[in-house]
Amino acid sequence: MPGDTTITPVTESAGFTDYYISQKGDTIWVQPPPPGEAYQQSQRHNNAAGESKSMDTADLAIIFGIFILLFALAGRKKKEEELPYAERSPESRRKQAEEKAMEHGAVYDEWLSSYNPYYKGLSKDLRERFLLRTIEFAQAKEFRFHEIEEEDYMLILISGAAVQMTFGLRNFLMDYFPVIHIIRKEYTLHHDNETYYGHVSRNGIYISWSHFLAGYKDYSDSVNVGLHEMAHAVSYDVFLGLQDRHDRKFKQRLQEFRLEGGPIFRALKEGDPHLLDDYATTNFDEFWAVCVETFFENPEEFRNEEPGLYQSICDLLNQDPTRPGKIIDKRIAGIRET
Ligand SMILES: [Zn+2]
Repeated sequence: MPGDTTITPVTESAGFTDYYISQKGDTIWVQPPPPGEAYQQSQRHNNAAGESKSMDTADLAIIFGIFILLFALAGRKKKEEELPYAERSPESRRKQAEEKAMEHGAVYDEWLSSYNPYYKGLSKDLRERFLLRTIEFAQAKEFRFHEIEEEDYMLILISGAAVQMTFGLRNFLMDYFPVIHIIRKEYTLHHDNETYYGHVSRNGIYISWSHFLAGYKDYSDSVNVGLHEMAHAVSYDVFLGLQDRHDRKFKQRLQEFRLEGGPIFRALKEGDPHLLDDYATTNFDEFWAVCVETFFENPEEFRNEEPGLYQSICDLLNQDPTRPGKIIDKRIAGIRET
């Protein structure tokens, strides 16, 4: 995946100018009419109705009060539904995902089972967790399609790659990236002549759909662009995202991985034989993303050849792909013991 990852300054993304992350200010709020209007209507009604001024004033006050109360209630009800997704309560997001799962869960389960071997190998309980997280992730993102027709299974499968990556973690929404771009096949950006299968920038996560599918179709060659880009996305989310939206302990563990992986990365650069794709020697970020591809697609081989590095990724992601139950520490994964 030559040069697949760049943090692209906004002004340098010509050709993608209309794909910038839309700001929260774009949200249209449906507001109740201002109380002043309600007051005028009541006043007109009162003038036509009768002469008793003291009674009228009291009635007016009551009616006005009722209107204010109704508007306040209506406003509150609307707000939770119309808030930007990232600002809704976890309960509201989960409830919406559960409703969607009731309606479409069987179809999503079929798609994920057919395309994603990691999902297929999970127990029933873990599949349920995976499916609900996938729906929540898909709901949280805006997907933009380039030179390709949108189909629902694309959203589910790409969200599934993100959920697989973060399956052992409490936080999984990668809030730093509200937009995911799906491009029909490999693409180029104007500022270099590289061909991209995927990249991550401040404008979003970009993935070539044909390479995404190929990555999961051969789940033993340690090449998986979906997992590769999600590995970049999760590390950028932790370092660049809002402090209160991610798991500080994960950030610490990622820094520990950098310390442990550093000497191995330097040895690879100097030409030591290794099982990782050569692209891992590009820089440490690529080393991390290539490690993730091998970690999921060839875990036994990875563990046998680089046990220390393998263990450090297990610790970091709180999961071990060689275990049937995947997740190592339920508490870290946000699973309540029953
Ligand atoms: Zn990369």
